[in-house]
Amino acid sequence: MDIDFDLIIELQRLDTEMRDASLVLEGIPRLIQDIDKKIQTDSKLVADARGKMSQNQKKRRDLETEVKDIKAQIAKYKRQLNEVKTNKEYTSLLKEIEEAQHKVDTLEEAIIAEMLAADDVEEEIKAATHRQGQDDESLKKEKLVLDEKMKEAEAKFAALSKEREALLPRIPREQLMLYEALRQKKAGAALSPVTGDFCAMCHMRVRPQMLNEIRDKVKVILCENCGRILYWTTKPEPVKPEPPAAE
Ligand SMILES: [Zn+2]
Repeated sequence: MDIDFDLIIELQRLDTEMRDASLVLEGIPRLIQDIDKKIQTDSKLVADARGKMSQNQKKRRDLETEVKDIKAQIAKYKRQLNEVKTNKEYTSLLKEIEEAQHKVDTLEEAIIAEMLAADDVEEEIKAATHRQGQDDESLKKEKLVLDEKMKEAEAKFAALSKEREALLPRIPREQLMLYEALRQKKAGAALSPVTGDFCAMCHMRVRPQMLNEIRDKVKVILCENCGRILYWTTKPEPVKPEPPAAE
């Protein structure tokens, strides 16, 4: 099988770049989700602190209402003191008044405690709001950057796909089939350049006889170790190391 290495090397370049672009495309939505989560967490903290404040205010109102009711009751008892006929009734009323007054004291202490707690909650609201304000700008910027990257990767992927489509009809069918089969098996890299006398992908030494055949480009030579199509190159190319689980 004669092979046009230029075309098939170009095909591998396109496939590699398309894979890189799709990795970017797959990764970005997750990153955007993480940012949205941070934004949600920030506003939840603010909402929670505000919720605490309204609970605090409601509790204070309830306590104040209770105090008011008991004080009204005490006033009523005091009026009754003038109307009672017996000592026993009088003593009993005094005891009621004393107990009610004790309740008022306890409730008023609770109101003060709630007021002090409100100061802490106020600080919590301030801190949460401040954090939200600080994060908001940088998170929005991060999102814009990611949106931009996403668009770039989409455009790049589309351009590469077009190039690939244009290239495919120029490559003989059986070479294409060999390339595709190897690409599936070899984690995306069907070709491996020979640099010096080594297969660049698996670092296996290539026998001298094979080296000559590869240089002459007379037929397809597969690496005896990793099975990739070997091609001759004089310039050192950046080669991604082979993934460990690929073989
Ligand atoms: Zn190899």
